[in-house]
Amino acid sequence: MDIEDEESTSSAPVKAPAKKRKRRRKNKNEDQEEYEENKSYANQINQKFGSSKGFKHKDETPMFEVKGGKATIKNSGNHRLTVSRTLDFHMNKLFQWEEEPDAIESAYICALCHESGRKRELFGPYYTTHNPIKHWPTFLAKKPLQTAKKPVKIELWFHGSCALWAPNVHLHGSQLTNLEHQMDIFWSQNCAICRKNGASIAVQNKKNTFVHYPCAQNKSYKLDEHTLMCNS
Ligand SMILES: [Zn+2]
Ligand SMILES: [Zn+2]
Repeated sequence: MDIEDEESTSSAPVKAPAKKRKRRRKNKNEDQEEYEENKSYANQINQKFGSSKGFKHKDETPMFEVKGGKATIKNSGNHRLTVSRTLDFHMNKLFQWEEEPDAIESAYICALCHESGRKRELFGPYYTTHNPIKHWPTFLAKKPLQTAKKPVKIELWFHGSCALWAPNVHLHGSQLTNLEHQMDIFWSQNCAICRKNGASIAVQNKKNTFVHYPCAQNKSYKLDEHTLMCNS
């Protein structure tokens, strides 16, 4: 019984696909010929227009990837490479320090609190171009004779904390943003403690009263890092 059963079950389905196989083989040959033909065309096109730099590996096809019900775009390998190289280039450019020889050289003094860089390290140089400038920082450099209303570029140095506590000035890569506008304002404000200009921190509840960061610290003013203000 067992043997007969095995024969019947195994022989029955084998016969049917045997015919199909023959038919498939014919098709396969046709497919193969077509494939070879297409391949030779593709090779010809590739030789004529393909990359000469020897990109032998095939790039991945961009596609949508669905994971956990969320669809994301999966870009090709070459695309990802181009994007990451571009980002690297921009980051390097952002963090690169470049000396600007056309700028007016300033004293190695904090452009905000007037303290010399010999006491504590200063960051810089940063450069600002003013056209025009209302409040020239005479403590940093002699005011140039503005003849043909040419813009003036000046080199600036800062304490890390002085720059961080200056409102509306932000660190972007190696650059401090909005410096031109803000420095003209800070140089117009005198410190309520040391009386020197360059005060950036507003004293709360006291109109038009500003202080330098180190001066506020020396007097134990309470500094609020959210408002960049202080309480005397
Ligand atoms: Zn300072
Ligand atoms: Zn001060």
